[in-house]
Amino acid sequence: MTNDTGYRGRVLLVEDEPDVRSYVARLLRENGWRTTAVEDVESAEPVLADHDVLLCDIMLPGQDGISFTRDLRARTDSVRWMPVILLTARAASDDIVAGLGAGADDYITKPFEEPELVARVATHTELALMRQIVIDEAQGKAEHLERALASNRTIGTAIGILMSQQRVTSDAAFALLREHSQNSNRRLREIAEDVVLTGALPE
Ligand code: CA
Repeated sequence: MTNDTGYRGRVLLVEDEPDVRSYVARLLRENGWRTTAVEDVESAEPVLADHDVLLCDIMLPGQDGISFTRDLRARTDSVRWMPVILLTARAASDDIVAGLGAGADDYITKPFEEPELVARVATHTELALMRQIVIDEAQGKAEHLERALASNRTIGTAIGILMSQQRVTSDAAFALLREHSQNSNRRLREIAEDVVLTGALPE
């Protein structure tokens, strides 16, 4: 699946065997993924956040793929949600159990059929992109809520000012704000901002 811009996602491949690395990277690129291929975790770390899916060999020099997965899941930034597909040389091994236990989403056993790898990477990049859309929407809602709370605070502050200035109850102060809002055809929040800024109801 590609979206209207043809964007299919970015895959970060970590594989230490040069032949396998170049073969898998070529396969991914031919199928439309922007692909970065590196040989170990140390090289993957700095570019991690620029990718949608991590395709990582388990047996690597230095930090292995399972330990890397566990580290990712313990992070506090958005990278912790990144789908991880592990590459393993042994089917149904303890490695697979350990990898899934560490938080990997899927695994592919080498040697693999090309359509299998393409299908699995496609599934997880699509899920990653959908998840990003949901996160973006949630953040939009959070910003909206923050604005709403900020405007409530402004109204609350304005009511406090009017209560002390006009020596009226909070209900009466709120009624004054609303009256000004209706008479001037301006939003209640804008009237409240004027009160907070100038210390008085606008003329
Ligand atoms: Ca390896």
